[in-house]
Amino acid sequence: MKKIKLVTVVGARPQFIKASALSAEVIENDLFEEVIIHTGQHFDADMSDIFFNELGIPKPKYNLGVGGGSHGENTGVMIIELEKAFNIEQPNAVVLYGDTDSTLAGAIAASKLHIPVVHIEAGLRSFNKRMPEEINRILTDHVSSVLFTPSVSSRNQLLKEGLPSENICISGDVMFDATQKFGKMAKQQASKEVRTQVERNSKYALLTLHRAENVDHKERLETILNNISLVEFPVLFPIHPRTAIRLKQYKLELPANVIRLNPVGYFSMLYLEKNAEVVLTDSGGVQKEAFFSKVPCVTLRDETEWLELVELGVNFIVGDDQLKFTKAISKIKNIEESVYSVNVYGDGSSSSQILNFISSRLG
Ligand code: UDP
Repeated sequence: MKKIKLVTVVGARPQFIKASALSAEVIENDLFEEVIIHTGQHFDADMSDIFFNELGIPKPKYNLGVGGGSHGENTGVMIIELEKAFNIEQPNAVVLYGDTDSTLAGAIAASKLHIPVVHIEAGLRSFNKRMPEEINRILTDHVSSVLFTPSVSSRNQLLKEGLPSENICISGDVMFDATQKFGKMAKQQASKEVRTQVERNSKYALLTLHRAENVDHKERLETILNNISLVEFPVLFPIHPRTAIRLKQYKLELPANVIRLNPVGYFSMLYLEKNAEVVLTDSGGVQKEAFFSKVPCVTLRDETEWLELVELGVNFIVGDDQLKFTKAISKIKNIEESVYSVNVYGDGSSSSQILNFISSRLG
């Protein structure tokens, strides 16, 4: 029997993690085969290779080596190169994750070749079109043939935008699958440096910061760092390369309570999240992982796509506002652990649900 051939496009750190869950499921499933294309958007060893090695993601057949340019430059070259690869591979569907320039480039190239586009993590909206990610999400959703949403609200959003209900499947979140799968091994597999930091700091906050809206503006970045200096315990900060460049460029120092680390691998990150008193972040994925780890989250953005967590009272949206920040920090002690037992993003079986739905639509 001819297998359903999926070509998966990844390019950035969160996509490697999302792809790890589905790729493992594809390997186990006789109906499918997968070819992975790495666009090269993230290329450093600690932003890319480590995830392929740690998480057993099959080696990409293509590495497009596109990165380091502007949004337009990168997206344009990716479209050209992806079109060539799709023409060679002739897949039954192209699988795309999330909201990066690689996602958008894959969506444009595949849809114009009339290859069905499968979008995983569809229907998310910040309602802030100044975010490049928001543009990428909206455009990708609207050319997708199959849309997998992590929650009911993201499905409702797609319906509101006129997308046909038969194309939408609430699969839950593949990141929850990954957390369930790899969380058990996190402590053993975390790096020595991370284990030492966790042992040394009985109470700590975990910080990640990389969104353009925060780190590409000196004043905003300075204000956020100033707010972070008010945290009473040490703040462990695996720094994103983009943020490291900006700090240098703006000649900004990290506050004294911040312990700077290089970007860490996924096991180390899960271990850091699990043991933190609070997670401070502008990342999409890290907001959810804080929830999966039953740790409160303070979101250093003016809005979030993950509203369910705000409604549950475990995620506080503070942006760069000092008063909101200090209020949120004072509230985290009062959160009952039972709040985290709600399965807002599925039950950890979203990868198998995704393959079942694809085979029912394309098989
Ligand atoms: N992550 C990681 N190491 C780090 C920082 C983040 O493995 O040093 C993981 C994190 O656990 C999550 C993903 O990267 O799974 C989130 O990616 P990122 O914050 O870069 O992007 P976003 O989710 O905001 O798109």
